[in-house]
Amino acid sequence: MITDLVQIQRLGEKKVPENEKFRRHMKVHDFPERRFRKVAEDIEDKTDCRACANCCRVAETNLSKRDVERLSKYLGLKPKQFILQYTTDSAQEEGETILRRNENGCIFLEGNDCSVYQVRPDTCQDFPHLVRGAGSLQSRMWQMVDRATYCPIVYNTLEEWKQIVGFGKKQMGQG
Ligand code: SF4
Ligand code: SF4
Repeated sequence: MITDLVQIQRLGEKKVPENEKFRRHMKVHDFPERRFRKVAEDIEDKTDCRACANCCRVAETNLSKRDVERLSKYLGLKPKQFILQYTTDSAQEEGETILRRNENGCIFLEGNDCSVYQVRPDTCQDFPHLVRGAGSLQSRMWQMVDRATYCPIVYNTLEEWKQIVGFGKKQMGQG
């Protein structure tokens, strides 16, 4: 299993075309999810997210109304104050509100720790959304090609899934 973040970025970026093809392969075959989830769960269990925290540095954090209410209460702020102080508009998804970021990533990241861990947004609790998340695994696969460039759980899980379904050179030769 690869956990070095420099290697993950290099390999994940190199494999973008391959992972795009794999995503389409998964969609066409519509495999049952159970076995894939188990692999992802095992890799999650073996990964020390507190030693990594790369998603908090790299990814935008979308907020729901429920997240805003929970975080405001925890910080002793009115939701409006919280929104002004801690949120901004997404640069990637129009109309989405995200947590503010600084040069280290998420505004709540302190070293490798989340300063609001007990009340962190739902998306942080479910990240990287391989084992948990809204909708089917299939419907979340489009996000995994990018996540494999910075998240060791996603990178390693995709590699193992490819082995399970025998995805290799033959499939890479197909359009
Ligand atoms: S709220 Fe916490 S877990 Fe979520 S991105 Fe920020 S630092 Fe990471
Ligand atoms: S979810 Fe992925 S990127 Fe985030 S801390 Fe865990 S291994 Fe690192």
